[in-house]
Amino acid sequence: MITLKNIEKVYRTSSIETLALTRLNLHIQAGEFISIMGPSGCGKSTLLNLMGLLDAPSQGQVEISGQAVTQYRDKELARLRNQRIGFIFQSFHLINDLSVLDNVEIPLLYRKGDATGASRRQLAGEALERVGLSNRMKHFPSQLSGGQKQRVAIARAIVGRPDIILADEPTGNLDSAMGTEIMNILQQLKADGSTIVMVTHDETMAKRTQRLVRLFDGAVVGDSVLGSEGKKV
Ligand code: ADP
Ligand code: ADP
Repeated sequence: MITLKNIEKVYRTSSIETLALTRLNLHIQAGEFISIMGPSGCGKSTLLNLMGLLDAPSQGQVEISGQAVTQYRDKELARLRNQRIGFIFQSFHLINDLSVLDNVEIPLLYRKGDATGASRRQLAGEALERVGLSNRMKHFPSQLSGGQKQRVAIARAIVGRPDIILADEPTGNLDSAMGTEIMNILQQLKADGSTIVMVTHDETMAKRTQRLVRLFDGAVVGDSVLGSEGKKV
């Protein structure tokens, strides 16, 4: 589903060069739920940004479903991102003066074709149902708990039915009960067929995924399959 081949990522700012990823190879299969762990600054966000086609590697190839996207133009990348990838962030990134329903509709505004107002509302309503928030559609983000905000953000991520979900510390701002709730929803999305890549600092959350990749200094230093009990197999 997502293949990274010999990736190198260098950030250049005036005279400073930072090597964020180096000789990184990773293959993620369709339907996997995988967590990425590692100390701050080891390249986790950079890796997620490359998989999400938000940034390009300095060297190497990014492939989505076997298609190398490195040569794609911005417009093609944007289209692919819009159709196939849903993003979830630690800090939710909801728009405070839009209702829950309007927030969830946002990704559909960037789609051409059949998305009329009525069909957008219907799709957004269905996405909110999947995260158990049908009863909060007219609320505003400030009226929700952190866990509810993240559920709205998940609804927004899945409203366009992407097959890949990228989550950057989705439980990082939540207490453990709310974090567990978010993990339950992600596990349900995985069961329904989504491929999910989650960056986390939380071992407990990582153990609820099927595979744990550890990064250090921009390279993969560990890659283990987790059993259903979260143990190494
Ligand atoms: P993590 O998500 O694991 O904390 P990042 O991917 O954010 O790590 O960062 C990896 C390295 O790249 C760090 O040394 C960071 O300072 C650097 N870096 C990240 N983004 C930029 C940027 N836009 N410009 C320059 N350096 C960056
Ligand atoms: P944090 O996890 O510290 O809250 P964010 O979730 O805000 O950080 O951002 C994680 C990464 O995603 C950053 O590298 C940022 O540039 C990128 N990003 C944040 N918001 C958006 C967005 N709306 N669309 C695309 N990329 C974003």
